[in-house]
Amino acid sequence: MPRAFEFSAALLAWFERHGRHDLPWQHEPTPYRIWVSEIMLQQTQVETVMPYFARFIGHFPTIAALAAAPLDQVLHLWSGLGYYARARNLHRAAHRVIDRHGGVLPDAVETLQTLPGIGRSTAGAIVALAFGRRAVILDGNVKRVLARCHALDDPPTIAAGERRLWQLAEQYTPQQRVAAYTQAIMDLGATVCTRERPACDRCPLAAACVAQRQRRATDYPRRRPARGQPVRTARWLLIVRADGEVLLERRPPTGLWGGLWCLPECALDEDPREFARSRLGIDIDLGDELPRISHRFTHFRLEATPLRCAPSGGARRLMASGDRLWYNVARPAAIGIATPVSQLLKNPAVFHQPVMSVANDPDRGVKTHGPTG
Ligand code: SF4
Repeated sequence: MPRAFEFSAALLAWFERHGRHDLPWQHEPTPYRIWVSEIMLQQTQVETVMPYFARFIGHFPTIAALAAAPLDQVLHLWSGLGYYARARNLHRAAHRVIDRHGGVLPDAVETLQTLPGIGRSTAGAIVALAFGRRAVILDGNVKRVLARCHALDDPPTIAAGERRLWQLAEQYTPQQRVAAYTQAIMDLGATVCTRERPACDRCPLAAACVAQRQRRATDYPRRRPARGQPVRTARWLLIVRADGEVLLERRPPTGLWGGLWCLPECALDEDPREFARSRLGIDIDLGDELPRISHRFTHFRLEATPLRCAPSGGARRLMASGDRLWYNVARPAAIGIATPVSQLLKNPAVFHQPVMSVANDPDRGVKTHGPTG
Protein backbone atom coordinates (compact mmCIF):
# COMPACT_ATOMS: atom_id res chain seq x y z
CA MET A 1 0.00 0.00 0.00
CA PRO A 2 1.56 3.35 -0.98
CA ARG A 3 2.00 5.99 1.68
CA ALA A 4 -0.39 8.89 1.24
CA PHE A 5 2.35 11.36 0.38
CA GLU A 6 3.90 9.06 -2.23
CA PHE A 7 0.50 8.37 -3.76
CA SER A 8 -0.42 12.04 -4.22
CA ALA A 9 3.12 13.03 -5.24
CA ALA A 10 3.19 10.38 -7.97
CA LEU A 11 -0.20 11.48 -9.24
CA LEU A 12 0.68 15.17 -9.21
CA ALA A 13 3.93 14.58 -11.09
CA TRP A 14 2.04 12.54 -13.70
CA PHE A 15 -0.64 15.24 -13.94
CA GLU A 16 1.92 17.93 -14.75
CA ARG A 17 2.89 16.12 -17.92
CA HIS A 18 -0.11 14.04 -18.90
CA GLY A 19 -3.20 15.50 -17.24
CA ARG A 20 -5.92 17.51 -18.93
CA HIS A 21 -5.29 21.23 -18.55
CA ASP A 22 -7.39 22.60 -21.38
CA LEU A 23 -10.97 21.61 -20.61
CA PRO A 24 -13.54 24.39 -21.22
CA TRP A 25 -14.48 24.70 -17.52
CA GLN A 26 -10.79 24.93 -16.54
CA HIS A 27 -10.31 28.18 -18.48
CA GLU A 28 -12.49 30.17 -16.16
CA PRO A 29 -13.09 27.87 -13.19
CA THR A 30 -15.87 29.82 -11.47
CA PRO A 31 -17.95 27.88 -8.95
CA TYR A 32 -20.96 27.98 -11.30
CA ARG A 33 -19.05 26.62 -14.32
CA ILE A 34 -17.40 23.91 -12.22
CA TRP A 35 -20.78 22.98 -10.78
CA VAL A 36 -22.42 22.69 -14.22
CA SER A 37 -19.48 20.68 -15.56
CA GLU A 38 -19.48 18.29 -12.60
CA ILE A 39 -23.20 17.62 -12.99
CA MET A 40 -22.82 17.01 -16.73
CA LEU A 41 -19.81 14.75 -16.15
CA GLN A 42 -21.78 12.42 -13.89
CA GLN A 43 -22.13 9.20 -15.93
CA THR A 44 -20.97 11.02 -19.08
CA GLN A 45 -17.58 11.28 -20.73
CA VAL A 46 -15.70 14.54 -21.16
CA GLU A 47 -15.82 14.45 -24.98
CA THR A 48 -19.60 14.12 -24.94
CA VAL A 49 -20.04 16.84 -22.35
CA MET A 50 -17.93 19.55 -24.02
CA PRO A 51 -20.40 20.77 -26.70
CA TYR A 52 -23.30 20.56 -24.27
CA PHE A 53 -21.36 22.57 -21.72
CA ALA A 54 -20.55 25.28 -24.26
CA ARG A 55 -24.18 25.58 -25.37
CA PHE A 56 -25.53 25.50 -21.83
CA ILE A 57 -23.16 28.15 -20.52
CA GLY A 58 -23.77 30.21 -23.67
CA HIS A 59 -27.49 30.31 -22.87
CA PHE A 60 -27.19 30.48 -19.09
CA PRO A 61 -23.94 32.29 -18.26
CA THR A 62 -24.89 32.82 -14.61
CA ILE A 63 -26.86 31.10 -11.86
CA ALA A 64 -29.43 33.89 -12.11
CA ALA A 65 -29.87 33.28 -15.84
CA LEU A 66 -30.35 29.57 -15.23
CA ALA A 67 -32.89 30.16 -12.47
CA ALA A 68 -34.83 32.61 -14.65
CA ALA A 69 -35.09 30.19 -17.58
CA PRO A 70 -38.15 27.98 -18.10
CA LEU A 71 -37.50 24.32 -17.33
CA ASP A 72 -38.45 23.45 -20.92
CA GLN A 73 -35.53 25.48 -22.23
CA VAL A 74 -33.14 23.82 -19.77
CA LEU A 75 -34.32 20.36 -20.82
CA HIS A 76 -34.08 21.36 -24.45
CA LEU A 77 -30.40 22.21 -24.04
CA TRP A 78 -29.90 18.95 -22.14
CA SER A 79 -31.62 16.83 -24.81
CA GLY A 80 -29.36 13.95 -25.81
CA LEU A 81 -27.16 14.09 -22.72
CA GLY A 82 -29.43 11.69 -20.82
CA TYR A 83 -30.17 11.32 -17.11
CA TYR A 84 -32.54 14.28 -17.22
CA ALA A 85 -33.03 14.34 -13.45
CA ARG A 86 -29.63 16.08 -13.46
CA ALA A 87 -31.04 18.99 -15.49
CA ARG A 88 -34.17 19.27 -13.38
CA ASN A 89 -32.13 19.24 -10.18
CA LEU A 90 -29.69 21.81 -11.54
CA HIS A 91 -32.59 24.10 -12.32
CA ARG A 92 -34.18 23.59 -8.89
CA ALA A 93 -30.84 24.11 -7.19
CA ALA A 94 -30.30 27.38 -9.09
CA HIS A 95 -33.64 28.61 -7.71
CA ARG A 96 -32.58 27.63 -4.23
CA VAL A 97 -29.22 29.38 -4.53
CA ILE A 98 -31.06 32.55 -5.54
CA ASP A 99 -33.67 32.22 -2.79
CA ARG A 100 -31.55 31.05 0.12
CA HIS A 101 -27.93 31.90 -0.61
CA GLY A 102 -28.18 35.34 -2.18
CA GLY A 103 -27.34 33.99 -5.63
CA VAL A 104 -23.90 32.77 -4.51
CA LEU A 105 -23.00 29.09 -4.63
CA PRO A 106 -22.05 27.95 -1.10
CA ASP A 107 -18.41 27.01 -0.57
CA ALA A 108 -18.82 24.29 2.08
CA VAL A 109 -19.32 20.60 1.31
CA GLU A 110 -22.14 20.23 3.86
CA THR A 111 -24.10 23.22 2.53
CA LEU A 112 -23.62 22.22 -1.10
CA GLN A 113 -25.04 18.79 -0.28
CA THR A 114 -28.34 20.38 0.71
CA LEU A 115 -28.86 21.47 -2.91
CA PRO A 116 -30.78 19.16 -5.27
CA GLY A 117 -28.52 16.90 -7.32
CA ILE A 118 -25.32 17.57 -5.35
CA GLY A 119 -24.04 14.53 -3.49
CA ARG A 120 -20.97 14.15 -1.32
CA SER A 121 -18.51 13.60 -4.17
CA THR A 122 -19.84 16.40 -6.38
CA ALA A 123 -19.77 18.77 -3.42
CA GLY A 124 -16.16 17.74 -2.77
CA ALA A 125 -15.23 18.33 -6.41
CA ILE A 126 -16.78 21.81 -6.42
CA VAL A 127 -15.00 22.82 -3.21
CA ALA A 128 -11.65 21.44 -4.38
CA LEU A 129 -11.76 22.61 -8.01
CA ALA A 130 -13.59 25.92 -7.67
CA PHE A 131 -12.62 27.09 -4.19
CA GLY A 132 -9.22 25.37 -3.98
CA ARG A 133 -9.89 24.05 -0.49
CA ARG A 134 -9.25 20.53 0.70
CA ALA A 135 -12.24 18.30 0.04
CA VAL A 136 -12.51 14.64 -0.91
CA ILE A 137 -14.10 13.21 -4.04
CA LEU A 138 -15.12 9.69 -4.94
CA ASP A 139 -16.60 9.55 -8.42
CA GLY A 140 -16.62 6.47 -10.66
CA ASN A 141 -13.08 7.07 -11.92
CA VAL A 142 -11.66 7.48 -8.44
CA LYS A 143 -13.48 4.38 -7.21
CA ARG A 144 -11.93 2.35 -9.99
CA VAL A 145 -8.38 3.56 -9.31
CA LEU A 146 -8.64 2.97 -5.57
CA ALA A 147 -10.41 -0.38 -5.86
CA ARG A 148 -7.64 -1.61 -8.16
CA CYS A 149 -4.74 -0.17 -6.20
CA HIS A 150 -5.99 -2.05 -3.14
CA ALA A 151 -7.66 -5.01 -4.88
CA LEU A 152 -10.74 -4.45 -2.77
CA ASP A 153 -13.02 -7.44 -2.56
CA ASP A 154 -16.19 -5.58 -1.59
CA PRO A 155 -18.04 -4.03 -4.56
CA PRO A 156 -18.49 -0.23 -4.34
CA THR A 157 -22.22 -0.81 -4.55
CA ILE A 158 -22.44 -2.30 -1.07
CA ALA A 159 -22.13 -0.18 2.05
CA ALA A 160 -18.90 -1.77 3.32
CA GLY A 161 -17.22 -1.32 -0.07
CA GLU A 162 -18.24 2.31 -0.35
CA ARG A 163 -17.18 3.03 3.23
CA ARG A 164 -13.71 1.60 2.59
CA LEU A 165 -13.34 3.62 -0.62
CA TRP A 166 -14.23 6.86 1.17
CA GLN A 167 -11.62 6.03 3.84
CA LEU A 168 -8.96 5.56 1.18
CA ALA A 169 -10.01 8.68 -0.73
CA GLU A 170 -9.80 10.67 2.50
CA GLN A 171 -6.41 9.19 3.36
CA TYR A 172 -4.82 10.00 -0.01
CA THR A 173 -6.20 13.52 -0.56
CA PRO A 174 -3.33 15.92 0.19
CA GLN A 175 -3.51 19.16 2.17
CA GLN A 176 -1.83 21.16 -0.59
CA ARG A 177 -2.56 21.41 -4.32
CA VAL A 178 -5.90 19.78 -3.82
CA ALA A 179 -7.43 21.12 -7.05
CA ALA A 180 -4.60 19.63 -9.11
CA TYR A 181 -4.77 16.36 -7.19
CA THR A 182 -8.54 16.12 -7.70
CA GLN A 183 -8.23 16.68 -11.43
CA ALA A 184 -5.27 14.29 -11.55
CA ILE A 185 -7.02 11.30 -10.03
CA MET A 186 -10.11 11.87 -12.18
CA ASP A 187 -7.92 12.12 -15.28
CA LEU A 188 -5.97 9.00 -14.39
CA GLY A 189 -9.21 7.03 -14.09
CA ALA A 190 -10.56 8.46 -17.34
CA THR A 191 -7.45 8.12 -19.51
CA VAL A 192 -5.15 5.44 -18.02
CA CYS A 193 -6.98 3.27 -15.51
CA THR A 194 -9.91 2.78 -17.86
CA ARG A 195 -12.69 0.30 -17.32
CA GLU A 196 -11.85 -2.15 -20.11
CA ARG A 197 -8.16 -1.67 -20.95
CA PRO A 198 -6.11 -0.09 -18.18
CA ALA A 199 -2.72 1.07 -19.45
CA CYS A 200 -0.77 -0.10 -16.41
CA ASP A 201 2.55 0.35 -18.20
CA ARG A 202 1.89 4.11 -18.31
CA CYS A 203 0.47 4.39 -14.80
CA PRO A 204 2.30 6.36 -12.09
CA LEU A 205 0.76 4.10 -9.43
CA ALA A 206 1.77 0.79 -11.04
CA ALA A 207 4.53 -0.02 -8.57
CA ALA A 208 2.12 0.04 -5.66
CA CYS A 209 -1.00 -1.29 -7.37
CA VAL A 210 -2.08 -4.68 -6.02
CA ALA A 211 -4.45 -5.51 -8.89
CA GLN A 212 -1.69 -4.80 -11.41
CA ARG A 213 0.73 -7.04 -9.49
CA GLN A 214 -1.85 -9.81 -9.60
CA ARG A 215 -2.46 -9.13 -13.33
CA ARG A 216 -6.14 -8.82 -12.47
CA ALA A 217 -6.82 -5.11 -12.97
CA THR A 218 -10.09 -5.58 -14.84
CA ASP A 219 -11.45 -7.82 -12.08
CA TYR A 220 -11.80 -4.65 -9.99
CA PRO A 221 -13.94 -2.92 -8.89
CA ARG A 222 -15.86 -6.05 -7.96
CA ARG A 223 -19.41 -6.26 -9.25
CA ARG A 224 -22.45 -7.74 -7.68
CA PRO A 225 -23.57 -10.87 -9.51
CA ALA A 226 -25.55 -9.75 -12.56
CA ARG A 227 -29.28 -10.10 -12.53
CA GLY A 228 -31.34 -10.15 -15.68
CA GLN A 229 -32.38 -6.63 -16.60
CA PRO A 230 -36.14 -6.18 -16.32
CA VAL A 231 -38.04 -5.14 -19.43
CA ARG A 232 -40.97 -2.71 -19.57
CA THR A 233 -43.15 -2.50 -22.64
CA ALA A 234 -45.33 0.31 -23.93
CA ARG A 235 -47.15 1.47 -27.03
CA TRP A 236 -46.41 4.97 -28.30
CA LEU A 237 -49.18 6.65 -30.24
CA LEU A 238 -47.70 8.54 -33.13
CA ILE A 239 -50.73 10.71 -33.87
CA VAL A 240 -49.96 12.76 -36.97
CA ARG A 241 -52.34 15.38 -38.31
CA ALA A 242 -52.92 16.04 -42.00
CA ASP A 243 -50.60 19.07 -41.76
CA GLY A 244 -47.79 16.79 -40.51
CA GLU A 245 -47.82 17.93 -36.88
CA VAL A 246 -47.50 15.23 -34.28
CA LEU A 247 -49.05 15.14 -30.83
CA LEU A 248 -46.59 15.27 -27.91
CA GLU A 249 -47.34 15.08 -24.22
CA ARG A 250 -45.22 16.39 -21.39
CA ARG A 251 -44.30 13.73 -18.82
CA PRO A 252 -45.00 14.40 -15.14
CA PRO A 253 -42.18 16.39 -13.48
CA THR A 254 -40.74 13.41 -11.59
CA GLY A 255 -40.02 9.88 -12.72
CA LEU A 256 -39.00 8.55 -16.09
CA TRP A 257 -38.11 11.40 -18.51
CA GLY A 258 -39.70 13.78 -16.01
CA GLY A 259 -40.70 17.07 -17.65
CA LEU A 260 -39.66 15.93 -21.13
CA TRP A 261 -42.00 15.72 -24.09
CA CYS A 262 -42.90 12.25 -25.40
CA LEU A 263 -45.52 10.55 -27.48
CA PRO A 264 -48.73 9.57 -25.69
CA GLU A 265 -48.13 6.15 -24.19
CA CYS A 266 -50.52 3.33 -23.40
CA ALA A 267 -50.11 -0.30 -22.41
CA LEU A 268 -49.67 -2.89 -25.15
CA ASP A 269 -52.87 -4.67 -24.22
CA GLU A 270 -54.91 -1.46 -24.06
CA ASP A 271 -57.17 -0.47 -26.95
CA PRO A 272 -55.44 2.62 -28.45
CA ARG A 273 -58.72 4.03 -29.77
CA GLU A 274 -60.32 3.80 -26.36
CA PHE A 275 -57.18 5.27 -24.77
CA ALA A 276 -57.19 8.21 -27.19
CA ARG A 277 -60.89 8.83 -26.64
CA SER A 278 -60.77 8.72 -22.84
CA ARG A 279 -57.31 10.19 -22.17
CA LEU A 280 -56.82 12.59 -25.06
CA GLY A 281 -60.40 13.39 -26.00
CA ILE A 282 -60.06 12.52 -29.67
CA ASP A 283 -61.00 9.71 -32.00
CA ILE A 284 -58.18 8.23 -34.00
CA ASP A 285 -57.73 6.00 -37.02
CA LEU A 286 -55.07 3.36 -36.63
CA GLY A 287 -52.20 2.87 -39.04
CA ASP A 288 -49.30 0.47 -39.00
CA GLU A 289 -46.82 -0.36 -36.31
CA LEU A 290 -43.26 0.85 -36.72
CA PRO A 291 -40.26 -1.21 -35.62
CA ARG A 292 -39.97 -1.56 -31.88
CA ILE A 293 -37.64 0.86 -30.08
CA SER A 294 -35.45 -0.46 -27.31
CA HIS A 295 -33.99 2.00 -24.84
CA ARG A 296 -31.80 1.13 -21.86
CA PHE A 297 -32.20 2.84 -18.54
CA THR A 298 -30.04 2.16 -15.51
CA HIS A 299 -32.40 -0.35 -13.96
CA PHE A 300 -34.49 -1.63 -16.85
CA ARG A 301 -34.94 -1.70 -20.59
CA LEU A 302 -37.92 -0.01 -22.23
CA GLU A 303 -39.35 -1.56 -25.36
CA ALA A 304 -41.76 0.80 -27.04
CA THR A 305 -43.81 -0.02 -30.12
CA PRO A 306 -44.79 3.11 -32.08
CA LEU A 307 -48.20 2.95 -33.73
CA ARG A 308 -49.00 5.41 -36.48
CA CYS A 309 -52.42 7.02 -36.12
CA ALA A 310 -54.36 9.98 -37.44
CA PRO A 311 -57.03 12.04 -35.70
CA SER A 312 -60.43 11.34 -37.19
CA GLY A 313 -61.85 14.64 -35.92
CA GLY A 314 -61.73 17.27 -33.20
CA ALA A 315 -57.94 17.33 -32.92
CA ARG A 316 -57.83 21.10 -32.45
CA ARG A 317 -59.40 20.75 -29.02
CA LEU A 318 -56.17 19.34 -27.72
CA MET A 319 -54.34 22.62 -28.12
CA ALA A 320 -55.98 23.85 -24.92
CA SER A 321 -53.73 21.76 -22.68
CA GLY A 322 -50.40 23.13 -21.44
CA ASP A 323 -49.00 19.62 -21.29
CA ARG A 324 -49.87 18.67 -24.86
CA LEU A 325 -48.86 20.25 -28.10
CA TRP A 326 -48.84 19.64 -31.82
CA TYR A 327 -45.18 19.50 -32.73
CA ASN A 328 -43.97 20.68 -36.08
CA VAL A 329 -40.80 18.84 -37.06
CA ALA A 330 -39.95 21.43 -39.72
CA ARG A 331 -40.22 24.27 -37.20
CA PRO A 332 -39.28 22.58 -33.93
CA ALA A 333 -40.19 24.33 -30.70
CA ALA A 334 -37.45 24.77 -28.08
CA ILE A 335 -38.58 21.97 -25.80
CA GLY A 336 -36.82 18.98 -24.28
CA ILE A 337 -37.81 15.80 -26.09
CA ALA A 338 -36.82 12.31 -24.93
CA THR A 339 -34.00 11.09 -27.19
CA PRO A 340 -35.73 8.00 -28.68
CA VAL A 341 -38.75 10.15 -29.54
CA SER A 342 -36.69 12.85 -31.25
CA GLN A 343 -34.81 10.14 -33.17
CA LEU A 344 -38.09 8.59 -34.25
CA LEU A 345 -39.39 11.95 -35.44
CA LYS A 346 -36.34 12.35 -37.67
CA ASN A 347 -37.54 9.37 -39.72
CA PRO A 348 -39.39 10.80 -42.75
CA ALA A 349 -41.38 7.57 -43.14
CA VAL A 350 -43.24 8.52 -39.99
CA PHE A 351 -44.92 11.39 -41.80
CA HIS A 352 -45.14 10.39 -45.42
CA GLN A 353 -47.29 7.29 -45.30
CA PRO A 354 -51.02 7.93 -45.18
CA VAL A 355 -52.88 6.30 -42.31
CA MET A 356 -55.73 4.14 -43.61
CA SER A 357 -58.71 4.16 -41.36
CA VAL A 358 -59.31 0.80 -39.71
CA ALA A 359 -61.50 2.08 -36.93
CA ASN A 360 -64.54 0.19 -38.13
CA ASP A 361 -62.82 -2.97 -39.26
CA PRO A 362 -63.46 -5.64 -36.62
CA ASP A 363 -60.92 -8.01 -38.19
CA ARG A 364 -58.08 -5.52 -37.99
CA GLY A 365 -57.23 -5.43 -34.33
CA VAL A 366 -54.01 -4.02 -33.02
CA LYS A 367 -51.31 -6.57 -32.52
CA THR A 368 -50.42 -7.03 -28.90
CA HIS A 369 -47.38 -8.57 -27.34
CA GLY A 370 -46.64 -10.44 -24.20
CA PRO A 371 -44.75 -8.83 -21.32
CA THR A 372 -41.39 -9.01 -23.09
CA GLY A 373 -42.64 -7.83 -26.45
S1 SF4 B 1 -1.52 0.11 -12.32
FE1 SF4 B 1 -3.15 -0.34 -13.74
S2 SF4 B 1 -4.82 -1.06 -12.48
FE2 SF4 B 1 -3.39 -0.08 -11.11
S3 SF4 B 1 -4.13 2.01 -10.91
FE3 SF4 B 1 -2.64 2.01 -12.58
S4 SF4 B 1 -3.81 1.65 -14.46
FE4 SF4 B 1 -5.11 1.13 -12.72
